Amino acid sequence: MEVVVASANRGKLKEIEAFLGFKVIAFKDLTGDLEIEENGSTFAQNALIKARAIYDLIDKDRYIVISDDSGISVDALGGEPNIYSARYAGVGASDKENLLKVVDKLNRLGLKESKAHYTAAIAIVSKWGEYVVHGWMHGKVINTPRGSNGFGYDPIFIPEGFDKTLGELEDKVKIGLSHRSKALNLAKPVIEMLKEKR
Ligand code: IMP
Repeated sequence: MEVVVASANRGKLKEIEAFLGFKVIAFKDLTGDLEIEENGSTFAQNALIKARAIYDLIDKDRYIVISDDSGISVDALGGEPNIYSARYAGVGASDKENLLKVVDKLNRLGLKESKAHYTAAIAIVSKWGEYVVHGWMHGKVINTPRGSNGFGYDPIFIPEGFDKTLGELEDKVKIGLSHRSKALNLAKPVIEMLKEKR
């Protein structure tokens, strides 16, 4: 079987390919551009929605589909932005606008920092069944962005056991700790097993 990734994000695709150690196919190369409405209420549901939407359109004897849905939850904000991480400051908002909304909310509460965690859900859809695995990275968010590595909320996120933000830490440090790496580690044996099936 060949592995199709239900993400339009080239960065994520490269990260997944590097992690698995073999070539994957971008869904766009099979289906063209698609708007998939992520209307689930958990990361797992949204990851499954994306993977199923692509799987419905392609050759089920040839492909399995994997997808990733992720985000950050901030304790002082009642767990926000959670599944709304990519659109916290509105649909189409930039990473910076989303991050500044968290900073603004912390400031309004008079807080310099709050415990927080990232979650990643990876869904796998195949003719032999569906699988979902999760990974988490715990730490805190601060009200002063620092550094420019990573993406999204990384300039305000300090992982547990560190005093630098993911914006300041090297990419390889993040790869060793990240929610996505942890979920991919769990997904890898399942994907490898399905890849060998006919
Ligand atoms: P998705 O592409 O729908 O899964 O949305 C993920 C969103 O969550 C991104 O737009 C980021 O805002 C945030 N996010 C997820 N993982 C990370 C990460 O590793 N660093 C920073 N932000 C992240």
